[in-house]
Amino acid sequence: WSKRDFPWTKELEVNNRRYFGNHSFRPNQREIINATMSGHDVFVLMPTGGGKSLTYQLPAVCGPGVTLVVSPLVSLIMDQIMHLSEANIPAAYLSGNMDWSEQQEILNELNSQYCTYKLLYVTPEKIARSDYLFRNLESLHRRELLARIVIDEAHCVSQWGHDFRLDYQGLGVLKQKFPTVPLMALTATATLSVKEDVVQVLGLTKCIIFRQTFNRPNLRYAVLPKAKKCIEEINNFIKERHRDESGIIYCFSRNDCEKLAEQLREFGHKAAYYHANMDPDERTSVQRRWSKDEVNIICATVAFGMGINKPDVRFVIHHSLPKSIEGYHQESGRAGRDNLPASCILYYNYGDYIRVKSLLTQGNVEQSTGARLTINSGTQLSTNIDNLRRMLGYCQNDADCRRSLQLSHFGEKFDASSCKKTCDNCSRMVTYVEEDVTGRALQLVQLISSMGQSFSLSHIIDVYRGSMSQQIKKHMHDRQELHGAGKSLSKGMVERVLHRMVYDNMLREDISKSDLYGSISSILKVNENQVTELRSGKIRLIIKVPEKR
Ligand code: ADP
Repeated sequence: WSKRDFPWTKELEVNNRRYFGNHSFRPNQREIINATMSGHDVFVLMPTGGGKSLTYQLPAVCGPGVTLVVSPLVSLIMDQIMHLSEANIPAAYLSGNMDWSEQQEILNELNSQYCTYKLLYVTPEKIARSDYLFRNLESLHRRELLARIVIDEAHCVSQWGHDFRLDYQGLGVLKQKFPTVPLMALTATATLSVKEDVVQVLGLTKCIIFRQTFNRPNLRYAVLPKAKKCIEEINNFIKERHRDESGIIYCFSRNDCEKLAEQLREFGHKAAYYHANMDPDERTSVQRRWSKDEVNIICATVAFGMGINKPDVRFVIHHSLPKSIEGYHQESGRAGRDNLPASCILYYNYGDYIRVKSLLTQGNVEQSTGARLTINSGTQLSTNIDNLRRMLGYCQNDADCRRSLQLSHFGEKFDASSCKKTCDNCSRMVTYVEEDVTGRALQLVQLISSMGQSFSLSHIIDVYRGSMSQQIKKHMHDRQELHGAGKSLSKGMVERVLHRMVYDNMLREDISKSDLYGSISSILKVNENQVTELRSGKIRLIIKVPEKR
C-alpha cells in the first residue's frame, strides 16, 4: 500500500502540506490512506499521537462527498472541528445536546445539492437514536456524497475494552445500511479479543488491518510501592527531575485530586486539579492554563484524557491503580508525545486494588472517581474485574520487562533485551536466575484439562494453590488430584507461569459468550500442539526469578 503509483498520490502530498502543514507521512499513514481511498474497509491500530486523524481527514479533502465520523465525546469533536476550521476545512458536528434549530441548519446543508461539508462528526447516540440523521445519510448516499464512514476510538465497541460504550454496539448498522461505503475503524488500544469484537460488531469481515508497534521507546516505566510518604517522594522526584515541567498525576477520586494538588502547591509547585465534578468552564480553563504552561501539574481522574494533545508532558504518575493495562498504556502514553524522554511512574499497593475492585463491584465508579466506565451488566463487571486483575499482575511482577508485559497484552512480542534498562525491572540490581517451571506448567495443563477446560485463570490459580472457597467446593474442585499441588507457590508466581503459557501459545484465553445466562468470561484452554512439544521435552518453560541469597 505504500506504492507511489496511485492516481491520488500527488494530490495527497500537495494537500498534506497545504491543509495540514506536513512535509511527510508518519509510519502507516500513506498505506492506510491508499487502502481507504481504494475503497477497502480498514482497521487501524496506532498508538496515541501516531497521527490517526490525518488518515481520514486527508482523504476527506482529496475526494468528493462527506466523511461521516463517529466520535465518543463532544469535547474531542470540538477539538477536531477547531483544528479543521483553522485549516480551512469545512466541517460540522451533530450531538444530542444541540438545540433543534442548530441541528436543522446542519441537516439542511447536508440536504443541499452541493453540500459543502467535508466532514460531519456525530456522537454514537445520534446514530443509535436519530432516524432523521439516518434519512439524511441515506439521501447523501443516494446522491453518491457519502464518501466514507469513520469510527474513532473503535475499542469503545467492545465489552472487552477498557472503555465500553453501549451506543457503540449499535454502530454495526452502518455497514449493513451502507455496505459499499468504505469504513475505517480507528483505535489506539486493542487487545486481540477487542480487535475481534470490533471487527465482528462493525461487520468489517474483509477489512485490511494496519497495526504498528505500541512500544514507546522514549518512555521509562517504573512501579513503586505506595506508602504514606508517597507525596514527599513525588515532590522530590518532580523537584529533582522535572522542575517546572509538565506532568499529569492520575488519582483515584475527586477528593484525592484536590488534596494532592493542594499538597503540591504547598511544596511550591504550580498544580491544579481536574475531575468530572467541576463545571465545564472550570475544566476548560484548567486545561487551557495547562496547555499554556501557566500550570505545570494536573492532578486528575481519568476524566482528563482523550483528546489531550500536549506534546511536552515529561511525566505521568499514577497515584492509584489504573483499571486495565490498556487504560494504563493510554494514560501513560500521554507522556512524551514529542518523542523526547519522559517518565511513567505507577504507585501501587494492594489496598488500592481492593478499593478499585470493591467500587467496580458496587458499580459506582462513575460517581466516586469520575471514571468513564459504564457499568451496565454482570458481563461488563466481570470484564472490568478481569482487566483490573491483569493490572494487578503487572504491578506485582518485579522480574519481567515492563514493555514486554504491556506489549504482550496487545498481542505483540517484545524482546526484553531491546528495553535497554528503561524500565525498573530491567534496570534492577537484583540478580535473577532462570527457573525451569516445565513441571509446574504440565501440572497446570493436567489440572485445566481435568476440570473440563472451562474455568478462568483466577479459578485455576485458586484450585492449584489449594483454596477451599465456596466456588471451588461448589464445583468439587477440592477433590481434584492436583488441588493444592501448588500451595508452596505465591499467587503471583502461578499467575506468571500461566501468563507465560498464554504468551507462548500453550494456553489460550477463550472468550465465552455462550453461557446460558449470557455472561462472558475469559476461559483458559489448552493448545495441544504446543503442549505436546512441552511434554516431549522439545521445549521447556523457563522464567526469571530473583536469586535467593
Ligand atoms: P492520534 O489521533 O493518533 O492520537 P493525532 O491525529 O492527534 O494522533 O496526531 C498527533 C499529532 O501528530 C498532531 O499534532 C498532528 O498534527 C501530528 N501529525 C500527524 N501526522 C503528521 C505528519 N505526517 N507529519 C507531522 N505531524 C503529524
